[in-house]
Amino acid sequence: MELLRTFQAGLHKTQAKLFHEIKRIVTLSPKLTASTLEELETALLGADLGMTMTQQILAEVKKAYETQGRSGNDSFEIARREVEKSLAGSQSSLHRQSSGLTAVSIVGVNGTGKTTTAAKLASWIQGRGQTALLAACDTFRAAAIEQLKLWGQKLNVPVIAGAYHADPAAVAHDAIAAAQSRGADYLLVDTAGRLHTKNNLMQELQKVHRVMDKKLSGAPHETLLVLDATTGQTGLQQARKFTETSGVTGIVLTKLDGTAKGGVVIAIARELNLPIRYVGIGEKVDDLLPFEPERFIESLFEP
Ligand code: GDP
Repeated sequence: MELLRTFQAGLHKTQAKLFHEIKRIVTLSPKLTASTLEELETALLGADLGMTMTQQILAEVKKAYETQGRSGNDSFEIARREVEKSLAGSQSSLHRQSSGLTAVSIVGVNGTGKTTTAAKLASWIQGRGQTALLAACDTFRAAAIEQLKLWGQKLNVPVIAGAYHADPAAVAHDAIAAAQSRGADYLLVDTAGRLHTKNNLMQELQKVHRVMDKKLSGAPHETLLVLDATTGQTGLQQARKFTETSGVTGIVLTKLDGTAKGGVVIAIARELNLPIRYVGIGEKVDDLLPFEPERFIESLFEP
């Protein structure tokens, strides 16, 4: 119940847009005219459900109206059902090796919330009675190293960092060694923000991953791509490129609290075939929730 309320609070803007907008539209015009459908389309796209999902919902609404004479009021149920279908099976938790260290690489473009997510994850892992180490592999920005160290102090989690401008692959290598010698359950590697269009930086990320694999076979065992929900559909482009070049295994969608475009979760799950592992709903350390489709749907479609 507590978790549902937190989800609802985080999704407040999207829910307000989607729920109240659909309600307004169907109350004004329960008979479902061409203009009602157009308005519905605008509302669904406005919440960033994506073109494919939106068209699918509209087609189902139209079909129900034409074949069963159902009113526009049923649009909610239809939208909910279609969203449910597309999110089915998209839940899965953070990977854990059956024994030894699990190394997680955290990747994405600048400012999406990678460092904050690394800290939130460390805290979440601690909350489950397990241990984590953080690695500051964003060596391009001195501030990023400091930011992670501050989180480490706050959470009492060791942070392995190199010097400013050090080779990030070398830091990742040392961090694995440190995590292994301490017998940690997880190593969370915070990488530098990079544009998915910059080939040299994408190659650098591949090198970090190669070096990790050499030090610990199979590492990184999980590569989480952090996407900023407020950027909506642009995230899809980033995700495709990162997936092609750096073997993304799951998504963390941050800043859901700051957007009415939370429907992008649905577009991502549908089009990328990648699990959404967590969603970020604020700046505080416990503002990270494991993604649960049922709660997400309840939060979106209930008043
Ligand atoms: P990085 O450059 O990808 O490492 O991004 P940071 O972790 O430094 O985060 C960039 C900004 O986004 C910071 O001000 C964070 O506090 C903020 N942030 C991160 N996650 C969330 C979230 O889920 N919700 C909100 N509202 N802000 C977030």
